Amino acid sequence: MRPHIIVNVAMSADGKLSTRERRQVKISGVQDFNRVDRLKADSDAVMVGIGTVLADDPSLTVKADECRDIRRQRGLDEHPVRIVVDSTARIPPAASVLHKGEGKRIVAVSKAADEQKVAEIRKYATVIITGEDTVDLTALMDELGTLGIRRVMVEGGGALIGGLVTAGLVDEIYTFIGNILIGGRDAPTLADGEGFLRESEFCRLRLLEERRIGNGILLHWAVYKSGK
Ligand code: NAP
Repeated sequence: MRPHIIVNVAMSADGKLSTRERRQVKISGVQDFNRVDRLKADSDAVMVGIGTVLADDPSLTVKADECRDIRRQRGLDEHPVRIVVDSTARIPPAASVLHKGEGKRIVAVSKAADEQKVAEIRKYATVIITGEDTVDLTALMDELGTLGIRRVMVEGGGALIGGLVTAGLVDEIYTFIGNILIGGRDAPTLADGEGFLRESEFCRLRLLEERRIGNGILLHWAVYKSGK
């Protein structure tokens, strides 16, 4: 069974995830940060694209002691499985996500990935190979399902989320919209990539919740699906 996929991002009032140079920006505050940490702790896995690893070098760990304690009491690793989608195995061997915090790591690559680079990654992570030149996200999710991963939180960035939306794989979306404008036509947005051309193809959402947090707003959406 394919996992339930929840996207979470913070974006500026003009819908940007970071600057056009892909420089990380503080968009939300402590309160939203804690919500995101709990969402992560409640997930079996947390996933990012290689663009986010190269730009931000995140560890993707659960930060709050109490959230890690709850996971341990449930017999789980302190941190969810951390997954990087990286078609050509560009992840630096020293990337924080491969080293910080206990728990499993998965790097998803395509058949085009260099064998030596894949062998290096295998020292730190399980490698899943799908797709010819680009990771086949549907096949990846199927494989994660067979590994017992039921709930995946996707932390970005825009290209990966765009790929997941296009493949019809996303179930829920949380967007925290902060009180800044970043601007720039090349700055990443929630769903990058090619995008849809026809209205009939648009990804339809149902608003589940809106909540003011500080000077921003959290929107929680469910994605209408034609069948899963
Ligand atoms: P990204 O979405 O993190 O990674 C994109 C890469 O994933 C692609 O270039 C592609 O590289 C790989 N990929 C592999 N298979 C794919 C597929 N089937 N579909 C789509 N992508 C696939 O990178 P990004 O869009 O450049 O976003 C990074 C930026 O977002 C950074 O600036 C970061 O700070 C920001 N960010 C912001 C937030 C937020 O909440 N505000 C969260 C996360 C990231 P390969 O072809 O090499 O595999």
